[in-house]
Amino acid sequence: MRDCKICGRKSGDEELCEYHQSALTNLKSAYEIWSEAEEHLAWEEYIKQVNELEETGRWVKEIIENIMSQNGS
Ligand SMILES: [Zn+2]
Repeated sequence: MRDCKICGRKSGDEELCEYHQSALTNLKSAYEIWSEAEEHLAWEEYIKQVNELEETGRWVKEIIENIMSQNGS
């Protein structure tokens, strides 16, 4: 058994719980749609912008903060 690396919930064999996993999946599929319209928008830029939106949900923001902290900036 593993714990979600973000919230510590039991997450089975995954490194993320189902909530954070689905938030990450949504974020990635939204980026694919976005990047077709905005070809030069880097992933890092994209998540930074999403993180600043008021309507972005808590799970997604926690994922973004985790990714950004791993990038070291
Ligand atoms: Zn979690």
